[in-house]
Amino acid sequence: MYLIVGLGNPGKQYENTRHNVGFDVIEIFKSKYNLNFKKKGNGEYAKCNILNQECIFLKPLTYMNLSGKAVFEYAKYFKIPEEKIIIVYDDKDILSGEIKLRKKGSSAGHNGIKSILINFKDFLRVRIGIGTPKFKNDMINYVIGKISKEEYIILQKGKEKAVKAIEDIIKNGMDYAMNNHNTSKPNIQKKNNDKKKKGEKIMNKIYITGHKNPDTDSIISAIVAEDLFTKLGYNVTAIAQGVPTEETQFVLNAIGKKAPMVHTKLEAGAHVILVDHNNEKETLDNIDELIIDRVIDHHAVKMMVGYPLYYRAEVVGCTNTILFKMYKENNIEISKDIALAMLSAIVSDTLLLKSPTTTAEDIDAVKELAKIAEVDANEYGLKMLKAGTDLSKYTIDEILNLDAKTAKIGNNTVIVAQITTVDIQENMQKKAEFEKRMNEIIKEQNLDLFMFLITDIITTNSQVIALGDKAGIIETGYSVKLENNTALLEGVMSRKKQVIPVITNLLS
Ligand code: MG
Ligand code: MG
Ligand code: MG
Repeated sequence: MYLIVGLGNPGKQYENTRHNVGFDVIEIFKSKYNLNFKKKGNGEYAKCNILNQECIFLKPLTYMNLSGKAVFEYAKYFKIPEEKIIIVYDDKDILSGEIKLRKKGSSAGHNGIKSILINFKDFLRVRIGIGTPKFKNDMINYVIGKISKEEYIILQKGKEKAVKAIEDIIKNGMDYAMNNHNTSKPNIQKKNNDKKKKGEKIMNKIYITGHKNPDTDSIISAIVAEDLFTKLGYNVTAIAQGVPTEETQFVLNAIGKKAPMVHTKLEAGAHVILVDHNNEKETLDNIDELIIDRVIDHHAVKMMVGYPLYYRAEVVGCTNTILFKMYKENNIEISKDIALAMLSAIVSDTLLLKSPTTTAEDIDAVKELAKIAEVDANEYGLKMLKAGTDLSKYTIDEILNLDAKTAKIGNNTVIVAQITTVDIQENMQKKAEFEKRMNEIIKEQNLDLFMFLITDIITTNSQVIALGDKAGIIETGYSVKLENNTALLEGVMSRKKQVIPVITNLLS
């Protein structure tokens, strides 16, 4: 006869929590085999014959930390030896949705198991993974806190696996079931304890990622957060949702670091920290299957996850400004490389502290970081932004095609091409070559207007070269005078908002 005990806490408020997965498994048996439960002593039980074995299913009603009392009472009354007692319960050291079978072992801090160990040692354990608590000292909230719909689905898989494993124990014995249901082979585990420890560490790993189409702040935030959280004692790994841009590569070279591995999906149940974004459209493909431990971000809050998490959002120009503050709050020394990394990201997001999103905190951070990194922020920053807008390896034709939009406006065909730079003059040295090729394209495509915008990302001005029969409309549209086919459009940066509407107005 087997005594199958699911651990949990009685009461509505504990339903659907990670700590009650043991109870949930008993409930699955209840509906699967139509079991009738009765109250007796410190528990609620059903006696039945399944798979040709007599079984007692038990839910202790003592609250978790006194579960052992009910187990002892029932084992004694029904004369069940300890090796026929199966305890099913939650385990934070196993990934959500996974299970592990064991014949013995410590409580690993589980209060229910602790109380059973007072009277028994060699009972059978079916452990259901609930994943690691978000952050170490948040254990209680984690195990009895409500879970999201997404995590419910993952946990449900674990419970169903546990039901199958218990049926296997009843039918074929523990050894057979262990071989069948423990994903990592037990004999390899025995041979190499170190490897097992390593494996468990990997399970506790938290991934850190920035957004898709990563900019410098996104990739550097992940690298910097990896440094910070490692120093705070977490097992973290920086990953990225894409490859670095030229600008980001310049920074990686400067700090002597490799780009993080690109992962756009992670194993279900894996834990993540999101940096520099919170929008589900910009994040890992299977975010619904993952557990977000933490968000550190400076963007509009779009997130709706439905479970508690650490969320740090600040109205600053860059995620790295927040990370910089976190180093200081935790009294963690900032190394020279990390300082240069953070400075680079802030300069990138705030365009050398000139963008409208720049705050006093960004400015202070850059000042302090420049000292640690021993660089002139302006000089270094310009070099970095220049690296990001370097077009030297492109031909004239390629530059004109890098970002060109063709539009039909009324009876007119128009191309508006745009490049970004930190040095308009440098690009204007090739004006004659640009014009030559633009005129060829006008002929080839029978264009009425070809505008080529060379936009300075720092001053937010655009130098326009305008050719074609309708080039004159630019003078009206922007109150400027074209001299040698060119004019400076002050404060014009957005083609979509500041150029297309203006010419549409004049041409239609
Ligand atoms: Mg970003
Ligand atoms: Mg950012
Ligand atoms: Mg950005």
